[in-house]
Amino acid sequence: MKIQALVLVSALQLVAARASDSHARRAQRLANRADADAAAATTSSSTPPAAATTSISTPPAAATTSFSTPAATYTTIPPLESITSGMPTRVEVQPTATYTAGATAFSGAPPLPTPFVFVQSEWPVWDHVPPVDSAEVAEWMKELDGINVPNITTTTDGTCAADPAAAADAANRGWWTCGGHTRDTDVTACPNKLDWGVSFDDGPSPYTQYLLDFLDEAKFKATFFVVGSRVVERPKVLVEEYMKGHEISVHTWSHRPLTSLTNEQIVAELGWTRKAIKAVLGVTPTTMRPPFGDIDDRVRAITLAMGMVPIMWSRTPSGGVFDTNDWRIPAGYVKGPESFETFKNILSNATTMDTGFIVLEHDLYEASVDIGVGYTLPYAIQFQPKLNLIPIGQCMKKPVTDLYLESNTNKTFPVGLSGTNSTAGKNSAASAKDVRFAFSSTLVAAVAAVFVGLI
Ligand SMILES: [Zn+2]
Repeated sequence: MKIQALVLVSALQLVAARASDSHARRAQRLANRADADAAAATTSSSTPPAAATTSISTPPAAATTSFSTPAATYTTIPPLESITSGMPTRVEVQPTATYTAGATAFSGAPPLPTPFVFVQSEWPVWDHVPPVDSAEVAEWMKELDGINVPNITTTTDGTCAADPAAAADAANRGWWTCGGHTRDTDVTACPNKLDWGVSFDDGPSPYTQYLLDFLDEAKFKATFFVVGSRVVERPKVLVEEYMKGHEISVHTWSHRPLTSLTNEQIVAELGWTRKAIKAVLGVTPTTMRPPFGDIDDRVRAITLAMGMVPIMWSRTPSGGVFDTNDWRIPAGYVKGPESFETFKNILSNATTMDTGFIVLEHDLYEASVDIGVGYTLPYAIQFQPKLNLIPIGQCMKKPVTDLYLESNTNKTFPVGLSGTNSTAGKNSAASAKDVRFAFSSTLVAAVAAVFVGLI
């Protein structure tokens, strides 16, 4: 069973990472949340997955659903019912385009570096919290100098249930996980009604290229929240994402709940991912998404100090969460039809909002990519009223130059960024209220639903 493997892999990683992390209960809980730090380890090989030779010859989605999938004709998509945790996996597809060093992704972008070559000794172990005694982390810690990082205790494991005291204090902490508390510095929605900020988390994976091919055919762009360990594993896919015009954002090195980590560990998680993206693309994102959405005021202060604005996903005022649950499929909790129903409900909720919205989807798993390419994205494209599918930075009305440190000339984005752009972290959490893209306040109020399993 895949889920058993996930639990085992997760447990092994956590034993190696920290003594406290080795607690079996935590491993189980993380696996229950479809934690990509477990799943990511299963992709941490340059060889195709074990079942990669299995061909998928099932009928295309259009044969089993009431809507057509005009943009998915390049490949067959499994019937919705067959999208499960035990589904066969495709052969990994590599990017076919080649981009030469010096090429630029957009006007004002720095040149693309020479192709990235991974050297193990230069990087932390994949999918582990990086050590904090390195010269790199010591240097990055200086970005916190002069920053008021709130003295908030680490949570047990980033879940509400495991830490009742922290959960009771969630409003004070601004803890998103327990009650959806946000701050003005968080991006939680697109300002314009019916704008959908499209995003995919946890890659690049063996299946990302399928998604990229679909996006090419469908002619729209997305934001990719990438895991540092995956970036150095599949740098060519990251280059393809970036050069095709998709937006790239930080999603940490090992995909742990950040509220459970020390300040130094958070800096290490963000710093190494930032460094990996810079090494591959030549740019440093000015945005990030915390794994599981697990953020509080301590994590926020560190994130902003390091020059990255947190991007969450949307909730309705009544507590509806814009999480497709696509990650629950590979975890074995739901199958394709249930996830697709969740998605349809999301779009129904979306039409009731005054703003646009941001939806959580993933490109780490075969199941997530297939349901996106074959079902949710075609459904969204044909949805009425018509939705505007665009990357999150674009929906925020940010020029692409704002999204990377090297090209950014915006002195108010990220918060308090100095005009020189010569260093990554010159922000002040104290100035958080000054940020101009605070359009989420109406979404924050009165959300008290208790939920689990957020990625
Ligand atoms: Zn994630």
